[in-house]
Amino acid sequence: MTGPLVRPGPLTHGTELNAIYAIARIVAETYDTEAGLDAIFRLSRTIFIFDVVSLFLHNEETGEFEPAYALALGRGRSREADLEWGEPAATEAYRSGQTILRQEDAGPSVEGRERRRDFLGLPLMVHGRCVGGLVFGRFGGPSYPPEHIRLAEFVAWHVGQLLENRRMAKRIASLEAQRELTRMQDEFISTISHELRTPLGMIKGYVTTLMREDANWDSATRLEFLEIVDEEADRLRELIDNLLDSSRLETGALGMTLEPIKLPTLIRDSVARAKSVYPDMDVEIDLPEELPILQADPTRIAQVLDNLLSNANKYAPGTPIAVRTDLRDNRVEISVEDGGLGIPAEHVPHLFERFYRVPEQISNARGTGLGLYICRKIVEAHSGEIGVESTMGSGTRVFFTLPAKVITPIPEGEYER
Ligand code: ATP
Ligand code: MG
Repeated sequence: MTGPLVRPGPLTHGTELNAIYAIARIVAETYDTEAGLDAIFRLSRTIFIFDVVSLFLHNEETGEFEPAYALALGRGRSREADLEWGEPAATEAYRSGQTILRQEDAGPSVEGRERRRDFLGLPLMVHGRCVGGLVFGRFGGPSYPPEHIRLAEFVAWHVGQLLENRRMAKRIASLEAQRELTRMQDEFISTISHELRTPLGMIKGYVTTLMREDANWDSATRLEFLEIVDEEADRLRELIDNLLDSSRLETGALGMTLEPIKLPTLIRDSVARAKSVYPDMDVEIDLPEELPILQADPTRIAQVLDNLLSNANKYAPGTPIAVRTDLRDNRVEISVEDGGLGIPAEHVPHLFERFYRVPEQISNARGTGLGLYICRKIVEAHSGEIGVESTMGSGTRVFFTLPAKVITPIPEGEYER
């Protein structure tokens, strides 16, 4: 085990202490395991000589004993990629929980003194459990003296701590992610239940009232109640559709069927639909002379426009609304502008998040905060962008773009169809 030191280096008590102190600090302060190991081994080499070092860990998931890290600092540096150094010593140290010394002959292909390889295998202990093996290798002798073995054991203990830090950091991150997921699921369920309950409560209430045997409703009242039930049932269906769309959009399961679409027709249809639902709505359509035919999913783009018009009606009722399109840089921009009260700037960046609603407006109009989220996902699936510009007191403009790669002008005449 002992032998003459060929390259002892100017090892003083001071250097040793400094290195030991620095290694302990690295373990306490480093979260990047790879960088931490590099630093520890480079420091180790100032206190005892080795040419290569490698680390083997027991993988708890696969049950395999795997190479996890290797570094060549002395002779053999050119073979750094070769992780197999000293595996037998690492395995033996791991199995026995003891420090192992092994001498190997690299074979006749290696010339000279370097045929001789001394491997020092150390068990990596974490909380009294052996998790792997660390191997220091020296090419061409001499073997490791006891004081180097002690230093190597010190280094191995610290490497174990570093690995434990990494395991703990991973565990904490996964626990935090789990907690966040649970919190989001809880929030989702409570938002949804609340939203679904409201129309359901109305339906139940009006139907129960209509069925009361002691009351005699005239036909006008009955019709009025039934209209409410009808509207609330529509609301419920719309909510469920939105929920399904939003979860399919989230997972990417809602595919877009792209086909050539004529935007003017699509816009006019959407405005006509909005006017039939909100007869008082004052909408102006402003289209340029020429518009390219776009590749888009007509149903989904109509859904975006319907959402924006519904918002304009809900949050800026009675104000003039303008739907415009603009062609720039091979992109068509479609916007819906209202003359409402506007949205406070701090809320604007959040409007496209799932369930986000401006708190001040919650009592003004019913909604779930899914509309703009769905719009964003649809526009993004078309490689477009969506945004909001809003000025307090003067109105809000929501716009989205669609790429128009092939600009095919629509001939005049066809435009009006
Ligand atoms: P849903 O569309 O799911 O029925 P919602 O209309 O509340 O519900 P979004 O369409 O996503 O949800 O809109 C999010 C929020 O943005 C709204 O709650 C509202 O506070 C605000 N908002 C949207 N459009 C306008 C607008 N034109 N003017 C002022 N505020 C708006
Ligand atoms: Mg909406």
